[in-house]
Amino acid sequence: MNLDKFLINLQRVNSNEPEFIQSVRIFLTSVQEWISDDYRLNNAAILERLTEPDRVIMFKVPWLNDEGKVVVNRGYRVQYNNALGPYKGGLRFHPALTLGTVKMLAFEQVFKNSLTSLPLGGAMGGANFDPKGKSENEIMRFCQSYLLQLWDVLGDDIDILGGDIGVGSREIGFMFGMFKKLSHRHNGTFTGKSPDWGGTKLKAESHGYGVIYFLKSLLKRYDDSLDGKIIAISGFGNMAYGVIKKAIALGAKVVTVSGPDGYVYDPQGIDERKLEYLLELRATSQDLIRPYSIEYPGTMYYEGKKPWEVSCDIAIPCAIQNEIGINEAESLLKNKCGYLIEGADQSCLQEAVELFTSQGLVYVPSKAANVGGVGISSLELAQNNMKVNWSESEIDSRLQDIMERTYQLCCKYGSKPGGQTDYLKGANTAAFQRVTEAMMDQGVI
Ligand code: GLU
Repeated sequence: MNLDKFLINLQRVNSNEPEFIQSVRIFLTSVQEWISDDYRLNNAAILERLTEPDRVIMFKVPWLNDEGKVVVNRGYRVQYNNALGPYKGGLRFHPALTLGTVKMLAFEQVFKNSLTSLPLGGAMGGANFDPKGKSENEIMRFCQSYLLQLWDVLGDDIDILGGDIGVGSREIGFMFGMFKKLSHRHNGTFTGKSPDWGGTKLKAESHGYGVIYFLKSLLKRYDDSLDGKIIAISGFGNMAYGVIKKAIALGAKVVTVSGPDGYVYDPQGIDERKLEYLLELRATSQDLIRPYSIEYPGTMYYEGKKPWEVSCDIAIPCAIQNEIGINEAESLLKNKCGYLIEGADQSCLQEAVELFTSQGLVYVPSKAANVGGVGISSLELAQNNMKVNWSESEIDSRLQDIMERTYQLCCKYGSKPGGQTDYLKGANTAAFQRVTEAMMDQGVI
């Protein structure tokens, strides 16, 4: 198998989907040694089958705004691979969303879900819809229209939708309501529901908690801990919230947060009170971070900039894909950052990943570090199926188990001579193995 040739062809066929190509390239390069001589995989055309989604659904989403005007958005659902279980993955509502981004996220989700050891396939969807500035009624009409186009290909044993950027329990609630009305089913076809009626406790925190639990296991391996570590993060959505909450509880100091307008540097570190303020800010100021620096004197606001220029021990990007390119990577290395843990899916461009790897910075890809999001979804599904309601501590301990298992798998498949671990290779190899073995067992379908 000539990987370069394979990737050139893949690029030709998907020429307007650079993010998808990037994700496949990073993935296949890291598992190359595993696949190159395996005649079983080659005969079964596993790479060809893995780089083509099972099904891509693209559709119009017409909805009525508050002025009585019809607005049309584009919706997507990519049901990528269901070898391990029903399709499972989030929905993203973001004005810049393209099919290429959805395919990339769906591809990542297949392997992320595989790595959790749970019986879940992978999918992703969403729309180029911007929920910001929309009224509650507009959001509801949009969600209902989106769901109308998709409901007949969903089900708790077919395809299970969850949240992502721009989709939280409110949006999930509106879609669930429409699904229930059309299908006459009240089941686990959606995760991220309100904890008051079928959702799970710890949903908001779990994604970020999972990242910190992974990091905790990793540091423990080096006889180290989070205590006293300086952490730079980007974003201030749910992921950032969970990361900050757990990191400060374990003694670390988080010194940055960011929005689309810029970032804030807080040399004293964000404490519980400031974290509450960030939550209020998020609810009222449409993702602008500047007010933080006015509220807390002694902090600095850097307009239009990303936080990767500050000095830190650990960097955790929590905003959106590809926020760390070569310049940001160089700046982190110059400032002696030792660890980069991807919170947001595929936060780093390939050049940045290569630089980190060659310079000895410990890099953990999102598909390992952020499995807590889908992990908590699986705990929600389990509670729905068993008709039970677990306590917060029960859920937290199960989440920790999922993260520890994921961490151990990365170590098992990513160990290097000298006792070091290549987390990218470990995560991808472990995930790839599980998916491909299931595909081989199930024949050519
Ligand atoms: N989008 C989230 C993730 O990263 C959640 C997916 C889900 O719960 O389906 O994995």
